[in-house]
Amino acid sequence: MNEHDSERIAGLLDADGLEAAESIDDADVVVLNTCCIRENADNKLYGHLGHLKSVKDRRPELQIAIAGCLAQKDRDLIRERAPQVDVVFGTHNVHRAAELLQEARTGGPVVEILEGAVAEDAEAFPSALPVRREVAHAAWVTIQIGCDNNCAFCIVPAVRGAEMSRPFADVVAEVTELVADGVTEVTLLGQNVNSYGRDLTTRLRGDVPVAADRDLAGGRWVDDQRRRPRALFADLLREVGAVPGLRRVRYTSPHPKDFRADVAVAMAETETVCEHLHLPLQSGSDRILAAMHRGYTAERYLERLAEARTTIEDLAVTTDIIVGFPGETDDDFERTLEVAAEAGYDSAYTFIYSPRPGTEAAARTDSFVDPDAAGDRYERLRAVIDRSTRIRHEARIGRVETATVEGPSRRDPALFTARTRQNKMIHVPSPEHPKVGSLVDVRVVRAGTHSLRGELVEVVADAPRRRRRIPVVAV
Ligand code: SAM
Ligand code: SF4
Repeated sequence: MNEHDSERIAGLLDADGLEAAESIDDADVVVLNTCCIRENADNKLYGHLGHLKSVKDRRPELQIAIAGCLAQKDRDLIRERAPQVDVVFGTHNVHRAAELLQEARTGGPVVEILEGAVAEDAEAFPSALPVRREVAHAAWVTIQIGCDNNCAFCIVPAVRGAEMSRPFADVVAEVTELVADGVTEVTLLGQNVNSYGRDLTTRLRGDVPVAADRDLAGGRWVDDQRRRPRALFADLLREVGAVPGLRRVRYTSPHPKDFRADVAVAMAETETVCEHLHLPLQSGSDRILAAMHRGYTAERYLERLAEARTTIEDLAVTTDIIVGFPGETDDDFERTLEVAAEAGYDSAYTFIYSPRPGTEAAARTDSFVDPDAAGDRYERLRAVIDRSTRIRHEARIGRVETATVEGPSRRDPALFTARTRQNKMIHVPSPEHPKVGSLVDVRVVRAGTHSLRGELVEVVADAPRRRRRIPVVAV
């Protein structure tokens, strides 16, 4: 989500006439886009700001801006601790980046934080803004911002605000536009994608619905009396997946409490939707899941996972797990190990719990887990995850997979790196690398914990041509 915001900020500054600099020493403007969901964000920020201060002492014209959710949360503290900062803006006014820098140039430091997004404001969704993408063939598309859940460990609802869905037609239009621009793969983004559209329906029920509101919520489904009067995430997957020229659709994240069969069926029936499900478990202990307010039990989670695997052939499953949540006992942790082993993940993001000020769990200081015990649990969990990753990867040896070329391998430029439908990186030796964005068939010959090794069978589809924009000048 934050990376996507960074691309948007870069896109807005491009559109304002700035160019990407090679290094900080060449830059006129530096934007630090922060994320307080991860640990240590503030230490990292003040570390960077210390370095930038010495650059600004030498070149006072350098503008420094802080964006993102840490800026949203610590607005005043940042200006107090780092007076060298010119602009502080939050998660709801990314679209104002260029204007705020301009204002600061003439009027001095600016802090502008909006407390929430405005439903009617298309710019509330980062995808509605210009973008500078890191790769030409793949793009993120925001379908929803904010979150209406209240997981006890999580700061997202406080810093990103209430859940707001992007109008159905806008999402489909953006994907169509991206494909015309040479994009072949999109990843739909939201904190709880399964509840996509819920707020649009609430708006429909609020007043006498007008035609524009019906369009907003996906008109064709709203008028269908046989089912719930709104477009569901499954409908969005099917519609986006059918955009001509699009090769692959991914999404993140579904919430286990809301993940229903219709999404699994849409995934199975939509050729372009990849066989990869990122289903965050967080803990395998029902006691801890309840304390986290996650809304499911381990058994329910495993049932939903089993249903998804039955519906979607060759499904890769990844997850997020936190160890050391306040009050987690050895017994609770053993449940997490059991559930992780039973789920047989392809990979997992694993975290040691760290308190986010202002969240419910951060106040439970008397039940914080001893850091050494949490560290030890983390290592034991990693061993279980790495084991299942290896088993899943080894099972792919000998198969031919269709993968999208991402470019030369970072470690060894004699290899190119490609991404399979199951979201696995495969490194392939080749004297002449296929173009970035092309589809290749590769045979898996070796399996590691983080990636696969393959050999090239054939190039099955070239990278698409990018649309060339011809500037129109008034004469
Ligand atoms: N919306 C997603 C969901 O419901 O699972 C999660 C999004 S959250 C931004 C990404 C991950 O960061 C979470 O799944 C969780 O595992 C981890 N995380 C969030 N807050 C954390 C905290 N206080 N300590 C450790 N890990 C945390
Ligand atoms: Fe955070 Fe929970 Fe919302 Fe995910 S669902 S963003 S973990 S509050």
